[in-house]
Amino acid sequence: MVINKVIRWGLLSASLIAILTLTAMNVYMLYDVRDTLIQGEQKKQIALLDEVVLNVRRTIYRPYRGFNTLELEPIEGSIEERGQFPEQVREKIVQVAKSPVFSGVYYTPAKIDPCTEGSQIYVLDRETSLLNLTNQYPKNLCDGVGLVRTKARIELNNFDYRWNTNTEFDAHRSMNIGFINLHENSVIGYLTATIDRDYLINEVITPEIQQYFDSSKTKSVVWLHDWANDVVLATNNNQIPFQIEEVQQRVDFGRMFENWNLKIAFLDNASVSLYHATFTKNIMVLGFSVASLLGALFYIFYTAQKERSILQQQADFLANVTHELKTPLAVMQAAGENIADGRVTQPNRLKEYGSHIYQESVRLNKMIEMLLDVARSDYGTTLIHASPHNLHLLVKNIIQQQRPLAKKKGHSIDYSYDTDEALVLVDPDHIKVILTNLIDNAVKYSNGPSTIDLQLSATTEGFNVHVKDQGIGIPRSHIKNIFKKFYRVEDSLSAKTKGHGLGLSIVQGLMELNKGNVTVKSEWQKGSTFTLFFPEYHVHPTEINNLTQKDGMALTSNRETSSIASETIV
Ligand code: ADP
Repeated sequence: MVINKVIRWGLLSASLIAILTLTAMNVYMLYDVRDTLIQGEQKKQIALLDEVVLNVRRTIYRPYRGFNTLELEPIEGSIEERGQFPEQVREKIVQVAKSPVFSGVYYTPAKIDPCTEGSQIYVLDRETSLLNLTNQYPKNLCDGVGLVRTKARIELNNFDYRWNTNTEFDAHRSMNIGFINLHENSVIGYLTATIDRDYLINEVITPEIQQYFDSSKTKSVVWLHDWANDVVLATNNNQIPFQIEEVQQRVDFGRMFENWNLKIAFLDNASVSLYHATFTKNIMVLGFSVASLLGALFYIFYTAQKERSILQQQADFLANVTHELKTPLAVMQAAGENIADGRVTQPNRLKEYGSHIYQESVRLNKMIEMLLDVARSDYGTTLIHASPHNLHLLVKNIIQQQRPLAKKKGHSIDYSYDTDEALVLVDPDHIKVILTNLIDNAVKYSNGPSTIDLQLSATTEGFNVHVKDQGIGIPRSHIKNIFKKFYRVEDSLSAKTKGHGLGLSIVQGLMELNKGNVTVKSEWQKGSTFTLFFPEYHVHPTEINNLTQKDGMALTSNRETSSIASETIV
């Protein structure tokens, strides 16, 4: 027995641990997959940002392709003699001027300082592709040329130049190239291409961002942010305002546009949100499976426990019944023996013994009836002989039979009704068992003499019969159990009162069989009211005729006639 218990509990705990471990592992795995997916997706998006930067760089640098291999020394002579670049250099510079990213192309010979106002430098006429002298040039040329000049000065003093150009960006304003005479290690002049900032932002960077981060496909937001001035210059999604806390990654443009960088906030993207949907479904299915599995386990366990407790109850019941059966038998045996032996001869003693034998045989009979009822209802073999009856008359008759029995124990029974036309389809024998059980209980569970109230009332759908007592009542926690077989409330009065906890279970079973139901309201130490509900029976007109012809009587509202009619129909 103990071993069985240990095995049962052991297996249950092992299964529980296995289920929970499996579930935890699965959930962990799902989270892990999600994280990997998110990380992979984020890496992909950072690579796209890098690509945007690369494309922008390409757009700026592409026109300068081939500059490194140009023969630049002849520039000085050409400019001095003809005021123009040598042909092969001019071709390349025209190529720069054609790029819409640059708003203008200027050439400053090394000996001229563009920072001195009114200096004469060259500007490339985009239409004729010729250099013209001008003193009208953007002020920032001074900065751009200055940058290259400073750098070239430092580097020329320290190294031998290997490249014939030296490029410097003046932030996002201009791109400056120093032309170097590699033989003399000196600067020839400076080519400055001023950047069309609006074009760069609106026509280059914005389309790039929008193409790579199409807001209809991704929820990630990308901003081109000028951090020095804290302004957003371009974005793929105008609906979402820039918030520095949301930024998860940034990519620089490097030396080219020092103040600018691309910032990204990874909001849910398509594949991650797709995964989220699957993830939620997975979790739900998993949760459901685990819940059903646990439910099944607990159910099996619960039912096993319950079966055990029912078996226990039945064993108790059998012991109880055997004892109860033996008691009247022992009394009858002893009384019978005494009479048979001729030991009791006085007439009054004989009467007393006879009455003992009679009472005990009645008790025995009652108990056997009850056991049979229980057995029948357990096997579902209780038969019902239902026919239309006037409930009022049935109740009245039963009360008349029960009154003297109750009176013997000091109780009176009151009956009131608000209708005497309560037509119901029932088995009258069942109604008798039901009401007798309830009245019996009302008597048993009352401390002293009291009045038991029976009341018949009509409802919209049928009729109620209330059986109200002023007895000990039923504690709230027990109410839900009292209709169960063998259930008895454990209090001192119930302990003293004979019973097996079967009466109410029989009442409930019979009420169901008669298409009604039984409910109870009770207050501890104040009393209980059991309510029986019967659905109304509606007689079909043809049925009335049949009944009338067959029985020669009508189901009328008249109390007397309905009483006769009811008895006749039965
Ligand atoms: P029995 O009366 O044989 O014990 P029942 O099934 O008729 O079995 O009742 C079950 C239990 O419900 C009783 O043991 C008793 O504790 C409680 N009970 C039933 N009717 C009443 C009542 N009218 N007042 C108080 N307790 C009641």
